[in-house]
Amino acid sequence: MKTADIRRTYLEFFENRGHTLVPSAPLVYNDPTLLFVNAGMVPFKPYFVGDEVAPFNRAVSSQKCVRTLDIEEVGKTTRHGTFFQMLGNFSFGDYFKQGAIEYAWELVTTPQAEGGFGFDPEKIWTTVLTDDDEAFEMWRACGVPAEHIQRRGLKDNYWNMGVPGPGGPCSEIYIDRGPEFGPEGGPEADEDRFLEIWNLVFQTQDLSAVRSKTDFDVAGDLPKKNIDTGAGLERIALLLQGKNNMYEIDEVWPVIARAAELAGKTYGADHEDDVRLRVVGDHIRSSLMLMSDGVAPGNEARGYVLRRLLRRAIRAMRLLGVHDEVLPELLPISRNLMSESWPEVVSNWKRISEVGYAEEAAFRRTLTSGTQIFDVAVKKAKEAGEDSLSGAAAFQLHDTYGFPIDLTLEMAEEQGLQVDRKAFGTLMQEQRERAKADARAKKGGLVNTEAYRELRAAGETPFTGYSELAGQTKVR
Ligand code: ATP
Ligand code: MG
Ligand code: MG
Ligand code: MG
Repeated sequence: MKTADIRRTYLEFFENRGHTLVPSAPLVYNDPTLLFVNAGMVPFKPYFVGDEVAPFNRAVSSQKCVRTLDIEEVGKTTRHGTFFQMLGNFSFGDYFKQGAIEYAWELVTTPQAEGGFGFDPEKIWTTVLTDDDEAFEMWRACGVPAEHIQRRGLKDNYWNMGVPGPGGPCSEIYIDRGPEFGPEGGPEADEDRFLEIWNLVFQTQDLSAVRSKTDFDVAGDLPKKNIDTGAGLERIALLLQGKNNMYEIDEVWPVIARAAELAGKTYGADHEDDVRLRVVGDHIRSSLMLMSDGVAPGNEARGYVLRRLLRRAIRAMRLLGVHDEVLPELLPISRNLMSESWPEVVSNWKRISEVGYAEEAAFRRTLTSGTQIFDVAVKKAKEAGEDSLSGAAAFQLHDTYGFPIDLTLEMAEEQGLQVDRKAFGTLMQEQRERAKADARAKKGGLVNTEAYRELRAAGETPFTGYSELAGQTKVR
């Protein structure tokens, strides 16, 4: 099944069962607690918390999601994309646990010819919150054997937004990919072999404070019991297309194939090259979708994420041996793959390509000048028998050559070196203070405060980025 067909199957299944089809919200959504939309429920949050009355009792959507939290996983695990599509069915005080479980079971097990996904029931495992006997029994009633239902604690089977709001126990569906992918023992033992495809959240509680996934205060019950589910479209696609990972599915693979061709590499021949190719496939698609939703590369939080994705893709291509421009080769392929489900990538193409290509040109200039300085610093550190690059070198790369600290960290790691982050931080701080002192000294005179603001913004970039990204860890 093509990814677009899986998406259609899901949406139609729930539309046929009284759900209103709600189009995806853009990745940048009006929610100050979020960098990007990272779950299907985000646009429905006001209905769940009771701020607004839902115009429907049941909804279904295919939501564009970006999880920056997963950026380091890309290409290394089989199942984490920075961009992915979350399919979801939602009930606002209508059906609850039993309905959600029965619908999910029906959709995953109904043969494809009859409008389902046709998974072999024997390969299905589910999880429930430790003492959720009710959910356990409901799965049993569907025909899941008791040994395929695992009880897990709050960390895995209680869902909250990371901020005050709705929360509740959840139950997840996993597919056993077979012994060649890992040990026996269900999802509790191995989440690569047992691939999580769908999370069913039974929203019942109103949380007044959330300190972590497992540490929160319950203010009381929500006015209504809601259902919020999230199924990973790419994960279902990789299973139904018989692929090893989500980067090899129809919506991503041709980008990788072209990247490999440009590099003169054979995918599958070398693990490190494969990881780089998968990073390229993933990041090109995420960048396309972010640019389509109006994000432009920059030094503030969202723009910085996009910049990082584009630059990581370009650098991965360099490490594969391609020094020519790559975006004009790869971005149009990704556009063609995504346009069936997301026609806006075609209507927005002029802006997407202009923004993307300009960023590549800028990055190429940065790399040309900075890489020489970096190489000298590496050589010096190695000759001195040190295991890390000095803070001064990292600072010079940042200050003079515009190397974001992540880039220096990544390049150093490739050389088996660390970076003296502490010294780097001190130098950055000193720079900020100098700028402030300068501004004070010139107060009353003709000061171009814009320049200082820019300097400060650039200086703080890596740290804003990290804390913003860390913020996302809290949110599903
Ligand atoms: P995992 O444990 O594999 O990181 P998760 O528990 O963080 O996944 P949920 O927050 O439960 O995921 O999201 C609901 C569904 O969205 C998951 O069951 C999965 O199918 C899909 N999903 C989550 N993160 C990603 C990702 N980075 N790339 C692709 N699909 C994802
Ligand atoms: Mg996760
Ligand atoms: Mg999980
Ligand atoms: Mg989950």
